[in-house]
Amino acid sequence: MMTCCKDSQINRPEDEDLEVIRHSAAHVMAEAVHSLFPDARFGIGPAIKDGFYYDFELPRSLTPYDLPVIEEVMRRIIAADLPFDHRMASRDEACGVFAGQPYKLELIEELPDEQVSIYQQGKFVDLCRGPHVSSTGKIKAFKLLSVAGAYWRGDETRPMLQRIYGVAFATQEELDEHLWKIEEAARRDHRKLGRDLDLYSITDDIGPGLVLWHPKGAVIRRVIEDFWKDEHYRRGYELVYTPHIAKKDLWQTSGHWELYRDNLYSPMDIDGQDYIIKPMNCPGHILIYKSRLRSYQELPIRYAELGTVYRYERSGVLFGLARVRGFTQDDAHIFCAFDQLEEEVVAVLDLAQFMMDSFGFKNYKVYLSTRPEKSAGTPEAWEEATAILGRALKRREINYEIDPGEGVFYGPKIDIKVEDALGRGWQGPTIQVDFNLAQRFDVDYIGADGKEHLVAMVHRTVLGSMERFLASLLEHYGGNLPVWLAPVQAMIIPVADRHVEYARKLEAELREQGIRAAVDARSERMNLKIRQAQLEKVPCMLVVGDKEMESGDMAVRLRSGEQVKLTWQGFTDCLRRAIIERVPDLSPGA
Ligand SMILES: [Zn+2]
Ligand SMILES: [Zn+2]
Repeated sequence: MMTCCKDSQINRPEDEDLEVIRHSAAHVMAEAVHSLFPDARFGIGPAIKDGFYYDFELPRSLTPYDLPVIEEVMRRIIAADLPFDHRMASRDEACGVFAGQPYKLELIEELPDEQVSIYQQGKFVDLCRGPHVSSTGKIKAFKLLSVAGAYWRGDETRPMLQRIYGVAFATQEELDEHLWKIEEAARRDHRKLGRDLDLYSITDDIGPGLVLWHPKGAVIRRVIEDFWKDEHYRRGYELVYTPHIAKKDLWQTSGHWELYRDNLYSPMDIDGQDYIIKPMNCPGHILIYKSRLRSYQELPIRYAELGTVYRYERSGVLFGLARVRGFTQDDAHIFCAFDQLEEEVVAVLDLAQFMMDSFGFKNYKVYLSTRPEKSAGTPEAWEEATAILGRALKRREINYEIDPGEGVFYGPKIDIKVEDALGRGWQGPTIQVDFNLAQRFDVDYIGADGKEHLVAMVHRTVLGSMERFLASLLEHYGGNLPVWLAPVQAMIIPVADRHVEYARKLEAELREQGIRAAVDARSERMNLKIRQAQLEKVPCMLVVGDKEMESGDMAVRLRSGEQVKLTWQGFTDCLRRAIIERVPDLSPGA
C-alpha cells in the first residue's frame, strides 16, 4: 500500500500517532476480511480523517450486516496482540508473496526501488511502507461505518472495488463522542430539517441546485435580510439592485468570461447580442460607481446588494443548500482611496464580528490568504495590500493564520471560518482586496490634486449566501432557531373548540406587537397539537383553556418542555425581550 499516505483527507501532523493507529486498523480489517473471504483481492488501505478504509475485491457484495461480523474478527485479532513484523524483500520475492493479488502486483511493478517493504501481522501479509503500531493490541477503539463502491485508483475504466470505511480513536470515550457527533450531525442535517420544518425544496422539475423557498423558509430569510439591510445602512452602506443578466461584453471586460468560463452558463441571444446570467455582482456595482465622475470627497463609497447569482457546479458536488447553482450573496463593494483601505477593512471586520455574534456563532478561525502563483497586480502592491489586511486584523486583536498562496488571483483576502455547535467549519465572512477590476474598468476618482486616481476596491460578504447561511444556522441550532429567527414564535393552542375565538384574539394582539403568532385551531387533542408545535420547533406555546380564559393568565410551554404561568404582560415582555436580545430561547425566570 505505497499509496497509503496520499489521501487528501490526511490528518494534521499532531495526530500522527492516531494516524498510525488508524492505518494499522486498516491492516487488521484487511486480515479479518481475508479470514472471512480467503479469495479476497486487496487494493489499498490508508488512514483518512477520523479513520481509515480498505478496498477489496470480493466474491459477493457486502451489506451493512457484514460489518459487525468483520468487527468481531478484528476484535479477536486485536485481543491476540499480534506484532507487526517488517521486512524488506526483493521484487521477485515480493511478486511471489503477492501472487494472485493483481492490485498489489500492479503497485509493486510501479515501485522504483529494488527492495520492497512488507509488513505482516498474524497470517496477513501486506505491501506497505508503514509505519504501524508495534502490535495489534495497541488499537484501542474502532468501529466500521459503511461500505461503498470505489473504482481501483479512482479510474472508472478499472474494476469497481468495495471500500469499507471505519473510524478509530485513542480511547473508547473519544470514539463514543465521535459516533455521537456523527449521529447528531445526521439529526441536524439541514436537508432533513429543511424537509421536516417545511422550509425549502429542490426538485428535479425545477432543476438541481435551484432552491424553492417555502413560506416558513422565506420568513427566516426575510428576517435575516431586513436585519442585514438595516445594519448595513447604519454602517454607511448604500443598498443597490442590479439586473440578473448582462451583456457578454461586460463579462469579457471583467475577465470572468475568460477566467470563470467553466462556471458560467451559456450566453443567450437578445436582439443579436450575447447576454449572460450573472455569476457575480461586482461589474454592476462598478457601473453604478462609474455612472458619473467621483471626487475624493465622496469616498469611501460602499454599495451593498443581496445579489442573486448563478454559477455552474457539477451535479455531483451539489449539496442541499450548502452547494447550489443559484444563490443570493450578501455582497458589497467598497470603493476607496488606498489610504482609506485599512480603516475600511477594520470596519468590515467589526461588521463581520457583529453579524457572527448576532447569529450566535461564537467560535471562528481567521485566515489571511497571500499571493497565488497566477496573479494580477505587482508584487509591491500585493505586499502592501497583504500588510494592510494584517494590520487591520492586529488592530482588532484577531488571531489569524497565513494561508500561503491561497489568495484570489486579483488580490489577498481574509477568510473567516465559523464553527458550528458540533465544531464543524463553515465558510463565513470574506474580505478581498482587488487590484484587477478597478484597472480593467478604469474605476477612478478625482483626487485633491485634480488628477485621476484608481480606486482601491474591496469585495466582501459577511454571511456568504442566504442559502448556505440558512444551512449553517439550521445545523448549528439543530433546527431550534433563536426566537427572533423562528418562522412562528408563539403557537396558541386552544384546548377545545370553544377556546378558539379567545385564541384568535390573543393571536391578533401578538401580531399587533410584531410577534409572529399562529393558532392551531384543528379539532385535535391538545397533546397532539403540543407535540406538533414541538416538532416544528416553535419556541413557545400558549395553551388556552377555561382556566386561562377566566383568569387571563398564560400557560406557557417552551420547546424545551419547561412550563410556566405568566401574566399576559409578563409573557409578552418576556417574548419581546427574547426577540430584541436575539437570544436562543425565552427565559421566563429572568
Ligand atoms: Zn501499512
Ligand atoms: Zn465582487
